[in-house]
Amino acid sequence: MSTLAPELHELLNKQINEEMSASYSYLAMSAWFEDSPYGGFAQWMLTQSQEETTHAMKFYHFLVDRGAKVDLTAIAAPRHEFGSPLEVFETSLRQEEHVTQCIHRLYEAAEKHRDHESKNLLNWFLDEQVEEEKVVQDMIDRLRLVGDNPVGLLQLDQEASQRKPVPAPSEEA
Ligand code: MG
Repeated sequence: MSTLAPELHELLNKQINEEMSASYSYLAMSAWFEDSPYGGFAQWMLTQSQEETTHAMKFYHFLVDRGAKVDLTAIAAPRHEFGSPLEVFETSLRQEEHVTQCIHRLYEAAEKHRDHESKNLLNWFLDEQVEEEKVVQDMIDRLRLVGDNPVGLLQLDQEASQRKPVPAPSEEA
């Protein structure tokens, strides 16, 4: 029998879907870039997609470890048409802001139910969201700076291709 409060249990299950939906959405963004001259941005979005899957798995394993039932629900089709690289990154930022709100709601539920283990898990995600939003915002700022300049765009694309996956805590040390 799980000691998780039902409200928290439901939100944690929902977060698996949120992270998998984000992963699917980033995969669609990567596919859009694959069909463009920007192979570096395609790589960036693929890396991001894979990271989101690891986020979903952190929630999955947490539920399993707490003896709580995992409920997987349908993932909606992601947006797959965009007007420009900037529009893709702006969509990414809105998505991250949404996920941050979900993590805040989860944290508040964990506090309400005095679930310290959940808070510990969610602290990692709070830090992660600060980093995610910063990295995307930085790219948006630079994309706005170069505008339609092909040389500038290809330079940012080259930089994006260098992005390394952020290791999950279990892979560190
Ligand atoms: Mg995530």
